[in-house]
Amino acid sequence: MRRALLAVVASALILSAASGALVTSSATENDLVTTVPSRQIPKIPKSVYRIKTKDKVAFITIDDGVYKPENALAYVTANRLPITAFLSSWTIKDSKEYFNEFARWGSIQNHSATHASFGKKSTDLDHEICYVQKRFGKKYDWYPWMLRPPYGAAQDSRAVRRMGEKCGIEQIVMWDASVGYGKISYANSKLRPGSIVLMHFSPKLKRDLKIAVKKIRDAGLTPANLADYLPRESIVPEMLTVPVALRPPAR
Ligand SMILES: [Zn+2]
Repeated sequence: MRRALLAVVASALILSAASGALVTSSATENDLVTTVPSRQIPKIPKSVYRIKTKDKVAFITIDDGVYKPENALAYVTANRLPITAFLSSWTIKDSKEYFNEFARWGSIQNHSATHASFGKKSTDLDHEICYVQKRFGKKYDWYPWMLRPPYGAAQDSRAVRRMGEKCGIEQIVMWDASVGYGKISYANSKLRPGSIVLMHFSPKLKRDLKIAVKKIRDAGLTPANLADYLPRESIVPEMLTVPVALRPPAR
């Protein structure tokens, strides 16, 4: 198991080096080896708040999916913006085309089934995480490999990481800046290379997107595709290959 873990960490570092990125959580995963029995260590590293990279890039991530404003989609399409859409599965009924278009230069990822907090004992993590994997797999013909816990809760818990690992999650993604209600706020005073910006599918999404893009450009950065900067192994778990054959998305 320890050997398997080290192989994962090693391959993550190789992948990171190949893409010019280094994920902050790799080092802490190594630290865990000395403090807990190896059988308890989830393969998924702790959550990522910002990609460590020298590339002048930042990443736009948008959560939930209740509102689907057409003008925001038109703005994304006109500017070819790479968007990582973290969707809660109940919000996307009959909206396959909208979100596929929205994430054309990015990807669609997992933000739970019902938006229940992963920090509550009553939350059914199997349903919240793995049901979405199966549902999105059928709906979008690919399966998510990033997870954003609702409210950012219990993002590093072993229960969440183990459940994610069971059904194809490879990275848990947080953020270090957010844009909403016409304003930007920072975890660390400004945008840096590798910053991950949190937003929501709100009625005013277009306004907020324009603010995010302006702030990113003002910081000397360019919006980039988060999927290109996070290491992954692209192994489809067996539970997702039955009964429909699913393919991981092309990079
Ligand atoms: Zn949310």
